Amino acid sequence: MTVRCRIAPSPTGPLHIGTARTALYNFLFARHEAGTFILRLEDTDVARSTVAYERDILEGLHWLGLRWDEGPEVAGEPARGPHAPYRQMERLPLYRQAVDRLLAEDVAYPCYCTRDELEADRLAQEAAHRAPRYVGRCAHLSAEQRRALEAEGRRPAIRFRIRPGTVVFDDIIRGHVEIDTDALGGDLVIVRSDGTPLYHFTVVVDDAEMAITHVVRGEDHLSNTPKHILLFQALGADVPRFAHLPLILNPDRTKMSKRKSQTAIADYVAQGFVPEAMVNFLALLGWASGTDEEIFSLDELVERFDLSRVHSGGAVFDRERLEWLNGQWIRRLAPGDLAERLAPFLADHLAAREAAGARLVRRPSTEEILPLVPLVQERLPVLGAIGDLVGFLFVDEPPPDAALLVPKRWDAEITLRGLEAARATIDAQGRVSYEADELEHPLRALAAGNGWKPGDLFMAIRVAVTGRPVSPPLFDTLVALGRRRTLERLDAAIASLRERLPTA
Ligand code: GLU
Repeated sequence: MTVRCRIAPSPTGPLHIGTARTALYNFLFARHEAGTFILRLEDTDVARSTVAYERDILEGLHWLGLRWDEGPEVAGEPARGPHAPYRQMERLPLYRQAVDRLLAEDVAYPCYCTRDELEADRLAQEAAHRAPRYVGRCAHLSAEQRRALEAEGRRPAIRFRIRPGTVVFDDIIRGHVEIDTDALGGDLVIVRSDGTPLYHFTVVVDDAEMAITHVVRGEDHLSNTPKHILLFQALGADVPRFAHLPLILNPDRTKMSKRKSQTAIADYVAQGFVPEAMVNFLALLGWASGTDEEIFSLDELVERFDLSRVHSGGAVFDRERLEWLNGQWIRRLAPGDLAERLAPFLADHLAAREAAGARLVRRPSTEEILPLVPLVQERLPVLGAIGDLVGFLFVDEPPPDAALLVPKRWDAEITLRGLEAARATIDAQGRVSYEADELEHPLRALAAGNGWKPGDLFMAIRVAVTGRPVSPPLFDTLVALGRRRTLERLDAAIASLRERLPTA
């Protein structure tokens, strides 16, 4: 049997971490088994589906590198695969045919209950401390009764008969699952009275028609699966195998929510997470390789991934681990590749600084970023951190506040003396050779000669020339900035300290 599995997102929100993980696991499983990975858009919730969300989802999957073998037409590219269309709103005739069959066999029936009637049932059940379920008012109407209700102008919904008994299946991750159909809430609405089919129905019709062999999806769907199995059986279709992935949890072990964690993939893209790290992170969010290794490329994952190694307990979303993996992957990038990925982040940072009043010296090209890569590659938790590290090279700003200029263990006076002496040293040394290796020794000697801790002196210089307490290695920083601009910035910092200390 050739594996056919799918990701079936609803474009009712941006691509969520959970959906991205489900997509990844389906992709890995399909690739590992030399099967087919299908994308289907479940857009029947017309009121909440938008083109912008659809674009966000497709872009996110693309960014992660998850290419589908079959899927809808996108941006002028035609649909791929023998089961087109892959958008549910374009498949309405198929659902209609399937409903007609179920109605003809009387495993589904029209239900004329009004909203008020159903609400009254619900309230009565609540008062009696019973779980809500459909009371079956329309389950056995005669043709004549139906005609009478239609004559009143009532438009029926369609309900599927939930048979008594149990539904049993063998989940690849959770093992044996057995559910009493009594717990399913009674006969299930599969088509609304306005004619639109509902999720439980469309998902089954499509999985059957697209010959899906494995349904790999989040544990939140576990309670839907018995309903789906009953529908597969009623349609005379093969029931696929199921694998329910563990819930993704906030660090406090509550279900992952937008309120407590960032859940949209686009937010991580915007901060400068690289797709290699996100794929690696998502893969480990529920799957374990069985070794101590932690770094896996998409290709390595395809080779190693196995659904039976997915655990059933909740997977805690650990942002620190994601940042660590991101740093690891950034280190592994080829310098040219990294420079290219950094360029838009640096451009955004500089544009923001310029908008805040800084003078833009120039917009760096990717070629200009390339020599900076060795200075920053080990220091970037995210690509978006590039601006704070090297932005000072490309904008000129007034010297930082004295409060920032003065190192913790120093006062304004020592700082002034330190910067004046450092300026003289850098000026003198720079006339001979302005190289990182050559600057270090005389500045260390200067600190030693004055009984200063080198760290304090270097911090004062760093803040004076970069405006920030964190920078790439100091001497490389001074060289990258150039001798003239280094001296200018030291002069500006010295002048601002002198203003604060008029007697100095
Ligand atoms: N459209 C459903 C969702 O977004 C798909 C669920 C499934 O995979 O069956 O959750």
